[in-house]
Amino acid sequence: MKQFKAESKKLLDMMINSIYTHKEIFLRELISNASDALDKLYFRSLTDDQVGMARGDFVIDLSVDKEKRLLRIADNGIGMSEEELDKNLGVIAKSGSLDFKKENQTGDDVDVIGQFGVGFYSAFMVADEVTVESRAYGGDGAYRWYSRGAEGYTLSPCEKEGVGTVITLHIKEDTDDEKYSEFLDENRLAALVKKYSDYIRYPIRLDMPTSRLKEGVDPSAEDYHYSPDDYETVYEQKVLNSMTPLWKKNKKEITKEEYSAFYKEKFFDYEDPALVIHTKTEGSATFSALLFVPAHAPFNYYTKDYEKGLQLFSKGVLITEKCKELLPDYFSFVKGLVDSEDLSLNISREMLQHDHQLRLIARTLEKKIKSELLHLQETDRETYEKIFAAFGTQLKFGVYNDYGAHKDSLQDLLLFPSSYEGKPVTLKEYVARMPEEQKAIYYACGETKEKIDMLPQAEAVKDRGYEILYCTEQVDEFALKMMMTYAEKPFANVCADETDLSTDEEKEALKKQNEEAKSLFETMKNAIGDSVSEVRFTDKLKNHPVCLTSEGGVSLEMERVLGQMPGSNGVKAKVALEINKDHPIAETLKTADEETLKKYAVLLYDQARLIEGMSIDDPAKFSDLVCELMTK
Ligand code: ADP
Repeated sequence: MKQFKAESKKLLDMMINSIYTHKEIFLRELISNASDALDKLYFRSLTDDQVGMARGDFVIDLSVDKEKRLLRIADNGIGMSEEELDKNLGVIAKSGSLDFKKENQTGDDVDVIGQFGVGFYSAFMVADEVTVESRAYGGDGAYRWYSRGAEGYTLSPCEKEGVGTVITLHIKEDTDDEKYSEFLDENRLAALVKKYSDYIRYPIRLDMPTSRLKEGVDPSAEDYHYSPDDYETVYEQKVLNSMTPLWKKNKKEITKEEYSAFYKEKFFDYEDPALVIHTKTEGSATFSALLFVPAHAPFNYYTKDYEKGLQLFSKGVLITEKCKELLPDYFSFVKGLVDSEDLSLNISREMLQHDHQLRLIARTLEKKIKSELLHLQETDRETYEKIFAAFGTQLKFGVYNDYGAHKDSLQDLLLFPSSYEGKPVTLKEYVARMPEEQKAIYYACGETKEKIDMLPQAEAVKDRGYEILYCTEQVDEFALKMMMTYAEKPFANVCADETDLSTDEEKEALKKQNEEAKSLFETMKNAIGDSVSEVRFTDKLKNHPVCLTSEGGVSLEMERVLGQMPGSNGVKAKVALEINKDHPIAETLKTADEETLKKYAVLLYDQARLIEGMSIDDPAKFSDLVCELMTK
């Protein structure tokens, strides 16, 4: 009996005693080893006539013996010599995997196994005896490697026809927690091959049971009575995998329908994707990617249950269902897969390099997704608007999050409904048609477009012939504030003091008028209280009597949003009550006695709040005052 090397023994122990729930991945590991062995011999056959095999001859055969609890995986690949059996299976090749374990002492083995597999030894998760019989191409004779686990292994000559390797697993007995017998069930095995190894380039075959009527039984006969004994189970060899992955095919040969069907089946959607991105990249990272942007948001998209990520394949073998490292949060709506040549299926000393490789792929994908979205925005606006309606909120959060780190890269993807033709516009479009004298990009916040249109300040800006962006989503203003400018133009909330459309003379005249009415405004401010910082005349309102103008960074809309967040300590916008200097009400105020003036002040403030779509503190008092003045 030969001993495993210390490291191998540790890994083996880890496998045998693993509580890992997805033990099923052992099959993926063994099949992918077989596929590698086939690759090697196939490659050889291209230059070496002696191999005597054609492309179609290379196969992987699975078979089960339920009674003896045996599962076999056979390939006619390159095989292993006695020495190779000893070297490859007795010593763990991937010393890096244990280093990785050490670094992650607190972490469990679970992720390591799940994400990257641990090769051949994973067989010991489901088998208590493993036999490997192999004949190497060009070698002398066949050899058997046999082990029951950690105590060691034996090597001896054996009989085997043809080159290749047969791995025989004696499947563990079922326990209360684990039903190992599932790995002896043909249908289960077929499903596992579909799930993990569908795109292995060689046929994976298995004799599948089907039930059929015994010969001589005629169920259409008049006196026929059903009996289970009339049926027998027959086995028919089936190829379990579909072999050529769609993403490996030439783009030109794939129809829109094929892409759609693939997407719907794989990602469980009932609607065709809005955008398909199929790309092959070569260079520092070599990979193919097939990405989809859904036409609608999944029902749980804006909840914490939603998990972003792409399927990650290594040469056609599924490594992980959801690799979240491949997508930034703001593109979390993208579905699809990446197949990389550079990633090895197993953890290894290149572990760190994998991460590097993954990051490289992620960066390339991110750029690609962005450029495809921009392209769509230009070529198929309708579809782009559909995508934006579903996922635009996420993109705006992307602008806002991480302290605006991604705002430059995302700003051109944004759309805002605008007063120009009533359609959603990009910031680029807005800036392109700005009149020369217009200083800022104007926006207004409110629940709906209609409500915003009712804002006196919005009306004043539109009257100047300036376009307004409607911010109807909570995140909108936060995103704009984070961006601060676009194409060097500042954003200005029409309801804030940053919006100033007057000329210098107009400003001067207004200043004078305000100074003259100083004591009047003081009385009014005191009557209203701390809710306003100031009362003053304005020249920006056309027909409306009053408005509230926020000063400083926090607008009224932001006050409302922040106020709804748990743990907010009532962030307050600083607002001024502004009165239209040309409105008849201005004269009325000037001539009112002090008591009446105080009442007017409270009324005007409440009115201004109502116009902004906000509630008023004391509706009863408001109503009393109105009646009092009506009956005067
Ligand atoms: P890895 O596949 O990452 O190298 P494994 O532990 O799965 O690690 O396998 C160790 C080695 O054993 C492989 O590199 C390969 O050389 C050899 N091997 C495993 N399975 C087969 C097979 N079916 N045919 C030929 N060689 C094999």
